[in-house]
Amino acid sequence: TNVTPFVNEPFTDFSKEENKKAMEAAIAKVKAELGRVYPLHIGSKKVMTEAQIVSINPGDKDEVIGRVSKADQALAEEAMQVALQAFESWKRVPAAERADYLFKAAELMRQRKHEFSALMILESGKNYAEADADTAEAIDFIEFYAREMLRLSRTNETQPLTKIAGETNNLTYIPLGVGVVIPPWNFPLAICVGMTTAAVVSGNTVLLKPASTTPVIAHKFVALMEEVGLPAGVINYIPGSGAEVGDYLTTHPKTRFVSFTGSKEIGLRINRLAGETALGQIWIKRIVAEMGGKDGIVVDETADLQAAAQAIVASAFGFQGQKCSAGSRAFIVESVYDEVVEKVAELTKALQVGLPETNAPVGPVIDQGSYDKILNYIEIGKTEGKLLAGGGKAEGNGYYIEPTVFADVDGKARIMQEEIFGPVLAIGKAKDWKEAIALYNDTEFGLTGAFFSSDEERIEEALETMHCGNLYINRKCTGALVGVHPFGGFNMSGTDSKAGGYDYLLLFTQAKLTSRKN
Ligand code: NAD
Repeated sequence: TNVTPFVNEPFTDFSKEENKKAMEAAIAKVKAELGRVYPLHIGSKKVMTEAQIVSINPGDKDEVIGRVSKADQALAEEAMQVALQAFESWKRVPAAERADYLFKAAELMRQRKHEFSALMILESGKNYAEADADTAEAIDFIEFYAREMLRLSRTNETQPLTKIAGETNNLTYIPLGVGVVIPPWNFPLAICVGMTTAAVVSGNTVLLKPASTTPVIAHKFVALMEEVGLPAGVINYIPGSGAEVGDYLTTHPKTRFVSFTGSKEIGLRINRLAGETALGQIWIKRIVAEMGGKDGIVVDETADLQAAAQAIVASAFGFQGQKCSAGSRAFIVESVYDEVVEKVAELTKALQVGLPETNAPVGPVIDQGSYDKILNYIEIGKTEGKLLAGGGKAEGNGYYIEPTVFADVDGKARIMQEEIFGPVLAIGKAKDWKEAIALYNDTEFGLTGAFFSSDEERIEEALETMHCGNLYINRKCTGALVGVHPFGGFNMSGTDSKAGGYDYLLLFTQAKLTSRKN
């Protein structure tokens, strides 16, 4: 078959009136469908439960996005049995056929792009560009992993074996089994789609437990996969409590792998629980855990200071700072410190907070728990630094918080060390660029970072010494593109799975060598 080379899905330009209108129309369409009740998908069965997860609009708390059925342990067990059975046939479907389901899904999602984005605007509080980028990334993951499976199935090209006389040798990448896929709410489409399609195209079957604040967009994806004819039981949709269903499946003897993206706390818990061997378990579970970040930007005195300030603000406050890659810290060299800090404060104060469906640059945070936690960190920040912008709640019938900047923060301060996951930026002063890099590296995390400088030697040194999975020079530290910037972090940021890169599908497969005497 003729597959074109991978290219990234373009972003939509919402400064064009027609694109803005198209998104408004999509929002209106999605609004007309709000409040539905969604079933679990267990094989071909649609199961409505009495217990429900109610998904609301974080920007307008009275708006119900949908009511989603909720799995308990018995239903999770039923889904496990169905997935085990589906695996027996799905693993024998040729790679090219599995990839074809993905190609079809990508095409359909592309046709309905704004509808997917509109739902995220309402369910997760993204503005137009953030939601559009999320959908584009989801499409990219599908297209990329479909091609990756095709590439992996041509091992004679990707890993030519040394030839010896008298034998024909072959290496194939076969699937693992039933995997539990646990995505976060902050890229409620892209990460959910990426982890699920990678598992499925590799020949595994999946129990998908979406994040509890964004289960409706996950359902829309599952319904799309059903529409393209993916066999029943390959993706099972089982929203539920992380503690109840999550722990049950993590410790299940038939779980072959867990693919998790979320907080450090839950990632470590999964890693620990999965390390125990359950009765009847005959493998070591494979754990992929992509976790939190305390990412930062370093600025030296030779840098383009305006560009640096803009990047700091974009990295800190894009999607209200609720990205694992968010630049929640900045370290600036003394001689330009005041100038950069002033620019950052000014740009931050200009950011408007408001309802996502009106495309306000800054929207709400995801839920009451986050809201309380972030406001608490802001109070802590008031004792640890100098408040330059924001500092509290913002107006609106949702979880709105002002973009907040603290300056003169010590490297060991809590707001410098702990992941806040909200619109809070901590800035620290360094005597020179080397000290700034040392401050940047003083963290248990290691996901993204950026270095702003025009000095070639310093850039070389920064490339070498800034310890993170995704390091950028003279640009913001958010916005990794599939295929272009394979993504994953070091240390407590996780297993560095490099989503959107050549290494990723290997995590969902095992290599089988066959040797045949001629
Ligand atoms: P979270 O850890 O609270 O939840 C993630 C998922 O785990 C959810 O689906 C949740 O329901 C589930 N869960 C909760 N308890 C569980 C348990 N005991 N067993 C199994 N699953 C359980 O994280 P979140 O709030 O959804 O997401 C935000 C976090 O994700 C931040 O820390 C952010 O940095 C991180 N993140 C990391 C990356 C990355 O690529 N490294 C990407 C996005 C988000």
